[in-house]
Amino acid sequence: MSGLAGRGAVVTGGGRGIGRAVAEALAAAGAAVVVCARSAAELESTAAAIREAGGDAHAIACDVTDPAAVERLAGEAGDRLGEVDILVNNAGASFAQPLRRLTLDQWNEALAVNATGPFLCTRAFLPAMVERGRGRVITVASVAGITGAPYIAAYAAAKHAAVGFVRAVAAEVAGSGVTVNAVCPGYVDTDMTRRSIDRIVEKTGRTEREARAAILERSPQGRLIAPTEVAHAVAFLCSDGAASINGEALVMDGGELRR
Ligand code: NAP
Repeated sequence: MSGLAGRGAVVTGGGRGIGRAVAEALAAAGAAVVVCARSAAELESTAAAIREAGGDAHAIACDVTDPAAVERLAGEAGDRLGEVDILVNNAGASFAQPLRRLTLDQWNEALAVNATGPFLCTRAFLPAMVERGRGRVITVASVAGITGAPYIAAYAAAKHAAVGFVRAVAAEVAGSGVTVNAVCPGYVDTDMTRRSIDRIVEKTGRTEREARAAILERSPQGRLIAPTEVAHAVAFLCSDGAASINGEALVMDGGELRR
């Protein structure tokens, strides 16, 4: 694939999981990629794997909840890539807690990484895309950005905020050549889901197998989604063929929400 040759892409949370798969897919399609997150070692590992596969990748440490760090990221990514044509707001974290035990700090933390991060990064990168008349911003939200579920009030509120943000900004830039979309996966096979399974085991005394079954209970496919599936969807939204898709929240749950 070379559909993204000559494009510069920034992928937040690119050190592992979905972000790493997205960075690898965009690089395989020809984009030069900057991955950012807080853990430098994981970022270096992603960038090294992409370079070994013949791609172009750079690692820049950045906490997306820190406005000054995001401004520095925008400057450094510009130095490395020239123009940034693609931003993937993937950095995020899940929080599970019954409402009565949900603290204000946890609430604020969920909003900071899942909603404020995409806001800060989009504000930093989008204006130059609009000026050039070309660009793609994709936010990795969640089915929790479309519907609710027990114990995830903070995470669901933050992901709903991210989806609302995407829809509003898409309207703001409509017709400019830049599109702004979200992908909304169900449970994906990453560390985040493994931590959720561990939490269920710890809180309920269930076995790991039972906890995994509880997570998969509502999935029509009866399996976790592969990070590469999310990466394919993101790569498609980045392509020229997706130019008319703007302001969408693409649900990837095997049809769970339709049942
Ligand atoms: P993951 O394996 O925990 O990876 C999260 C990535 O985000 C890591 O690279 C992490 O690196 C980075 N990150 C976290 N906080 C950050 C911050 N403040 N600044 C910069 N980077 C930060 O999670 P994942 O499953 O791949 O999830 C990726 C995205 O998909 C998240 O937005 C998540 O909400 C969403 N999602 C996940 C699932 C799922 O089932 N796994 C389902 C739907 C949506 P550092 O910790 O080193 O910063």
